[in-house]
Amino acid sequence: MNDQTPVLQVKGIGEKTQKLFQKLDIETVGDLIRHYPRDYEVFEDPVMISAVAPGAVCAVRACVVGIPNLKKVRSLSILNVVIRDASGGMTLTFYNMPFLKNVLKSGGFYIFRGLVQTRGSGKLMEQPQIFSETDYARQMSCIQPRYALTKGLTNQTVQKAMKQALTFYEYEKEYYPAWLLESCRLESGRDALCDIHFPMDREALLAARRRLVFDEFFQFLMILQKNKDLSRNLPNEYPMRPTEETSRFLNAMPFSLTKAQFKVWEEIQNDMEGGLCMNRLVQGDVGSGKTIVALLALLECVCNGYQGAMMAPTEVLAAQHYETVRQYVETYRLPFRPALLVGSMTAKEKKDAYARIEAGEVNLVIGTHALIQDKVKFQSLALVVTDEQHRFGVRQRERLAQKGNTPHVLVMSATPIPRTLAIILYGDLKISIIDELPADRLPIKNCVVNTSYRPKAYEFIARQVAMGRQAYVICPMVEEGELEEAENVVDYAEKLKAALPAWIQISCLHGKMRPADKNRIMEEFAAGKIQVLVSTTVIEVGINVPNATVMMVENAERFGLAQLHQLRGRVGRGAHQSYCIFISTKEDRETMERLDILNHSNDGFHIASEDLKLRGPGDLFGIRQSGAFAFRIGDIYSDASLLKQAADAVERILREDPGLILPENLPLREHFERIATESVDFRSI
Ligand code: ADP
Ligand code: MG
Repeated sequence: MNDQTPVLQVKGIGEKTQKLFQKLDIETVGDLIRHYPRDYEVFEDPVMISAVAPGAVCAVRACVVGIPNLKKVRSLSILNVVIRDASGGMTLTFYNMPFLKNVLKSGGFYIFRGLVQTRGSGKLMEQPQIFSETDYARQMSCIQPRYALTKGLTNQTVQKAMKQALTFYEYEKEYYPAWLLESCRLESGRDALCDIHFPMDREALLAARRRLVFDEFFQFLMILQKNKDLSRNLPNEYPMRPTEETSRFLNAMPFSLTKAQFKVWEEIQNDMEGGLCMNRLVQGDVGSGKTIVALLALLECVCNGYQGAMMAPTEVLAAQHYETVRQYVETYRLPFRPALLVGSMTAKEKKDAYARIEAGEVNLVIGTHALIQDKVKFQSLALVVTDEQHRFGVRQRERLAQKGNTPHVLVMSATPIPRTLAIILYGDLKISIIDELPADRLPIKNCVVNTSYRPKAYEFIARQVAMGRQAYVICPMVEEGELEEAENVVDYAEKLKAALPAWIQISCLHGKMRPADKNRIMEEFAAGKIQVLVSTTVIEVGINVPNATVMMVENAERFGLAQLHQLRGRVGRGAHQSYCIFISTKEDRETMERLDILNHSNDGFHIASEDLKLRGPGDLFGIRQSGAFAFRIGDIYSDASLLKQAADAVERILREDPGLILPENLPLREHFERIATESVDFRSI
């Protein structure tokens, strides 16, 4: 078996399971073995009952006191068992397991493991697992992987398939030179793949993760380097002159640019009017006003007689940008002749748009990346703006270059990263920073609360809606079953409909919906026809509905702080006071402390680095910061030191042997040739 082998050939996967895997984007054995565990189940030493923390999964070694009490409520049987150790007692509750009454003998010792909850003044575990002393010892000696799932697919099925695939997979032979393996302390790729799924212990897991994260960074940086060579010192083939239109627009606008916006706009002008092709990143926190800066650049571009393109990672965001431009054209009579290009348009609509672009009738194309890059013939594409796509890589550039000359590229990102990392990750770009928010913004009011606060939060949302405002509610999942114990959008929207007054329009939005439906819902929300939007994090990037003033996030503990900060950035975009309600299902001190950081800062960069300090590097059970750099396993924040090591290694190898022709580097060259032809998914590049 190799990366291309269809999963259907793995023993135990039939057509039904294959379909379920497809839902997780797993088609081949390569996809399967790179479906790394979401987290791991570790059986810790049992603790004393007095020390168990509500909200955490704990094991206790305790003795059954008295006879278990069995009662029936309608068709449900409820068994309550009191247990005790030297430090105190607690109650266990089992549903529909009446037989346990005869199993759990008074005076018997067991180990019980489950989620601890508070009930009144006491503590309680519902449906804990029951182990004998020896069984528990056996569990403690290994770490069980837990995978992202979909309805109908169990963790056990994935585990079994994974074991099969790992047994028959043809592992790639080592491609790093020996000095690198040694200096970066990397184990073999084979061990890493096996141990990331089924580690014997924590050390094995850490070592596996280290190798895989390194691989990912190394690959990314090698390609980045190629990118850099391609884009360095290219002549400016689309020189531009300043135009009156931009100053006219700036004067007519209802607000004036912040100092930071103005400075960045000047940097862009200098690039586009200078001798070299522009490759610039504009980094600015959520709400700092990047769109307007991009529009100024595009305005100068079309006034010079060229075409421009603006690409967004999602249709929803592309449609929003199109709408913004359309309104500006109407209000300020700007000379844009825009066209929208997204996947959900009909074939005829698309064909029509292509023709108008090719004929030069359209001077600004706004759409999703794939459509613009693959299908469009431009007359004179001089500027490409990519919004919230953090990498704009060699392939995109090559594809665009094939369409004519090399256009100027402007990349816009809200991902807060420290300067040292930015230099590595954006090695091929010049960096501009918008480090200031517009002055009219009221700071967002935040609270981090537990689930008992929900009724109050709903009341609050209802009041805001009554005042004409709108609200977002974010849940981690689309539907039931992907992760256990987390809220999902579909069911939650129903719950909310029951809890809020009937006149409030509530809709849900998630990534599995058809793009056309997503766009419609988003348009209706932007137009105020929908007042409460229950969504997954699909709205995380870019969305701008200034009338929305409440952001409520369920299971906030499951998100990285940088991601929560991005979500929070969806409100507080207008003059109204905005509010953020983070609901945490876990109440342990660590979680609360982490989420509390959001209470004290509105600065994305500060938040990300505080989060890192608390979690510490290599916190492999930790939460991924954000999807900004779509690394599969690496995290630019917590794996920053590994990122630097990979950067150094790439630098040294290419300095000593740019063509990878030395014998020690041949396997490396073969590796990169192979992944180049296999069209590996470089989501992040
Ligand atoms: P982001 O940087 O997150 O992409 P946007 O460009 O969407 O932010 O801007 C957020 C909101 O702020 C928009 O409604 C925009 O019109 C407004 N805005 C941008 N610049 C300013 C400014 N200088 N003063 C006041 N409002 C501004
Ligand atoms: Mg934006």
